[in-house]
Amino acid sequence: MVPPRHGRCVARARLPGERPRSTAAGPRRPTPGEGGDVVSAVPRTLLRALADAVGPGHVLTDPDAAAPYTVDWTRRFGGPAAAVVRPAATAEVVAVVTACAAAGFPIVVQGGNTGLVGGGVPPAAAAGPAPVVLATTRLTEIGEVDPLSGQVAVGAGVTLATLHQHARDAGWSYGVDLAARDTATVGGTVATNAGGVRVCAYGMTRAQVTGLAAVLADGSTVTHLAGLAKDNTGYDLTGLLVGSEGTLGIVTTVRLRLHRPAGPSTVALIGASSYDEAQQLLAGCVRPGVRLLAAEIVDEVGLELVLRTAGLPRPLAARHRLLLLVEVADGATADGLELPDDVDAVVATDAADRLRLWAYRERQSEAFSTLGVVHKLDVSIPLASVPDCTAAIAERVQATTAVTTYGVFGHLADGNLHLEVVGPAPDDDEIDRAVFGIVTAYGGSISAEHGIGRAKAAYLSMTRTPQEISAMRAIKTALDPAGLFNPGVLLA
Ligand SMILES: Cc1cc2nc3c(=O)[nH]c(=O)nc-3n(C[C@H](O)[C@H](O)[C@H](O)COP(=O)(O)OP(=O)(O)OC[C@H]3O[C@@H](n4cnc5c(N)ncnc54)[C@H](O)[C@@H]3O)c2cc1C
Repeated sequence: MVPPRHGRCVARARLPGERPRSTAAGPRRPTPGEGGDVVSAVPRTLLRALADAVGPGHVLTDPDAAAPYTVDWTRRFGGPAAAVVRPAATAEVVAVVTACAAAGFPIVVQGGNTGLVGGGVPPAAAAGPAPVVLATTRLTEIGEVDPLSGQVAVGAGVTLATLHQHARDAGWSYGVDLAARDTATVGGTVATNAGGVRVCAYGMTRAQVTGLAAVLADGSTVTHLAGLAKDNTGYDLTGLLVGSEGTLGIVTTVRLRLHRPAGPSTVALIGASSYDEAQQLLAGCVRPGVRLLAAEIVDEVGLELVLRTAGLPRPLAARHRLLLLVEVADGATADGLELPDDVDAVVATDAADRLRLWAYRERQSEAFSTLGVVHKLDVSIPLASVPDCTAAIAERVQATTAVTTYGVFGHLADGNLHLEVVGPAPDDDEIDRAVFGIVTAYGGSISAEHGIGRAKAAYLSMTRTPQEISAMRAIKTALDPAGLFNPGVLLA
């Protein structure tokens, strides 16, 4: 479901003496299709050290080979890289970090490159040398599931889909799932503290992580992988690295808590005329004692788009402003749901039918991306404010003449909506800023689950206090004084 990576670099290297272009809101973004290259002025000594570290076949300097690593999934962010390196072990990561630090080249850490805030790709215009992209996709070691603790240690480059299969094969299940599962890596989901469709049942990625190993900017490795249920021994470095978006360390191994499978489930797609009605339906439709596995929302714009782009049949007889998807663990009997008689709904208990209903929600990102570069605004809204806040945002977006399409989908149970704005130029941040202003006025957050990355670094102060940001900067300076890892990500 994730579109193929692009075949070309999108941003060219700056010419000698050329100043980086920037907008008031942050760094300049690449124009889709803009020509580019990996930079040529990379010291031979660095390239040799990288080749010694990971093997010459895993240092990419050819522009075509490097191009997929230099632009993000949205095509909104990207820039030139000095090289792309693909280590296969923690020791190789250490060697890459040591070589880059010695040469004064920053490192951009990249997992599956499905991130939606530009944190895993080089900036369009770097203040110093173009970064080396360190791709973790060869860190694929996968341990056996420990049957006593229900935990497993896996390499950062293992994809979510592989982890899910591995857990299933051992009689367990992993609690974080999202539509980019075939490509997104465990390391990327840890670095972004990814959420996804099962947060209402199992929590975010942070709740699954019992320990990790990471390489720090000084080349040292911190390892905390015992997975003890209780371990009150000082600062929680694991917790600090989760959600740090590659700015504090390169995660190489993660120990994860698994769950006993919830068993067969029932999925319902329910029509609703407003967010208020959808929330009331959700609050009343799960029978007591039944576990809610997912509660998602798709608006009519997203539905019409996915019908057109994916060729799916219309799911309900009537048209509705919103579609609510609810999944419950009830043994696939449909007894776990209690729907009002007059509601327009379709219910699936068979595995293939469940997947068919999920497709209307899971294919949303892909459907919107067919319209061009999307301003993907992932926000959190207090549940009680969802109806009013979404109305205020819609009014503001619709008053913006540059907007050609505006649709919403997301994780209703978490108050986490993905606002998809099409039309404004990739580097036109006016609508982003306006929407974040409305969200924060309602007590929400400018990032629910995608992180801050490069896209929102200029807006962090809308959601965090000066004291919090200064504490974050102090931590960054303590662990990475030279700003080696992901400069410009999270902290502008
Ligand atoms: C179709 C689609 C659906 C999605 N649905 C969801 C969703 O429901 N919920 C959700 O939360 N996200 C979702 N995402 C966003 C994305 O999948 C997540 O942010 C995911 O966690 C990124 O993983 P990745 O391996 O692709 O990381 P990347 O995109 O490669 O990197 C993301 C960030 O993590 C850092 N990073 C990556 N690996 C490491 C590492 N080993 N150590 C340190 N830092 C690292 C990068 O530097 C970057 O800052 C979706 C994306 C797509 C394309």
